[in-house]
Formats: sequence, structure tokens, C-alpha cells
Amino acid sequence: MNKLEERSLVVLKPHTLTRGLVGEVIRRFENVGLKLVGIKMVQVSKELADKHYPLSRREFIEGMGKKTLENYAQLGVDPVKELGTADAYEIGKLVRQWLVRMITAGPVIAMVWQGPSAIEVIRKIVGHTLPSKAAPGTIRGDFSYDSSYLANKGKRAIKNLIHASGNLEEAKYEISLWFKDEEIYQYPRDMETNPISQLVDQNGRD
Ligand code: UDP
Ligand code: MG
Repeated sequence: MNKLEERSLVVLKPHTLTRGLVGEVIRRFENVGLKLVGIKMVQVSKELADKHYPLSRREFIEGMGKKTLENYAQLGVDPVKELGTADAYEIGKLVRQWLVRMITAGPVIAMVWQGPSAIEVIRKIVGHTLPSKAAPGTIRGDFSYDSSYLANKGKRAIKNLIHASGNLEEAKYEISLWFKDEEIYQYPRDMETNPISQLVDQNGRD
């Protein structure tokens, strides 16, 4: 892996498999030129789910609660009436329980994608956490209209199809949690070896 490259963990949540969207999602990452360096189907245990969504990462738990609160504010919904609290951390803990239940409900596809700025590029392709706010053309925006409000009403996590590492620190932790070193492979993609692609890259043209 060269210095400009990063790796990101992507997990296709169980509803992506039940909806038959696995190929569609993978195609989008392949199309932009990212390299798939690890892939497997996993029935996630409660133990793995707990480590993947760590209760000890307060800013992550609070972040989920804040997303719910923002969504409620936009819709004019009172969090205390709906959930019994307006505290972001308490709401985050509730959401996390539903999230663990969702990710363990059926098999997932776990993948490691590699490329320059892979983490940011993947987040761009995936779109906003709330599909109702995700731009058209993104995976979440194109295949769902779910929101915190709808999900919380049903006492479930938002069905936004996919998990993607949020930053470099998260990516490193998550990849080591899901993949052994020998499950990650190296090979050149066409654009790295094809002389015409290289010429085009050098000229900075498409
Ligand atoms: N989530 C939810 N309700 C919320 C916020 C988050 O169900 O109000 C779920 C959603 O499935 C999301 C996951 O929690 O993908 C992790 O939240 P995070 O803030 O890390 O969003 P992501 O990084 O997945 O965009
Ligand atoms: Mg996240």
C-alpha cells in the first residue's frame, strides 16, 4: 500500500442481503476505482457487535443520540414524549441496543476497500447516516428513505444498508477486529498496471 492510500471497513448490513442489493453496492465502489482487498460473509456474534459498536466510545454513542435529536427537531417531535429523555447519550445507548440487534439479525458481508483517501471517498458514496437526508446518487439516498423518527417508532435501528469506517483511527480498529492479516490480499488494479491508464493519469485527464 503506498503512502497516499488508506483502507476502510465496509459492512453490508443484513437488510442489504435480504433486499438483494449486494452487487449494486459493490459495483459503486468498483466503479470509482477502489480496490477490494478483503471480503467475507459473517454471522455477527453479540460479542463482535459489542466490540464493533463500543459502548465505551462516548462520542460515538452521543453522536447517534444527536442525530436522533436533530431529526426530531426538524420534524417538531418532542424527544421526551417519544423516548422519555432529551439526553443525547441516553438516546444513543437506546439506539445502540437496536443497532446490535440489527447487525446480529442475519448474515452480513464484511469488506476491506483500499485506495487514495478511501475512507472519505467511501463515505461520500455511502451518503448521510439518515437516508432521508442522503443525497440522490448515494447508496443510502438511492435505496432508502428511513430516518431516526421512523426507526425509533419501530424500536429499531435506521435501515441505511451499510456501515463504513468514519475516520482513520476507526478504520484501523475495525479492520483489525474483523480481518486477520492473512485475509487481506494485494494485487494491482488495471489502472495501476495498464500503460494507457497510467498515461491518462499522468496527463491528469479522464
Ligand atoms: N443510527 C440509528 N439512529 C440514529 C443514529 C444512528 O439507528 O438516530 C444507527 C444507523 O444504523 C447508523 C448507526 O447507528 O448507521 C451508527 O451511527 P453513526 O453515527 O456511526 O452513523 P454512520 O457512521 O453509520 O453514518
Ligand atoms: Mg459511524
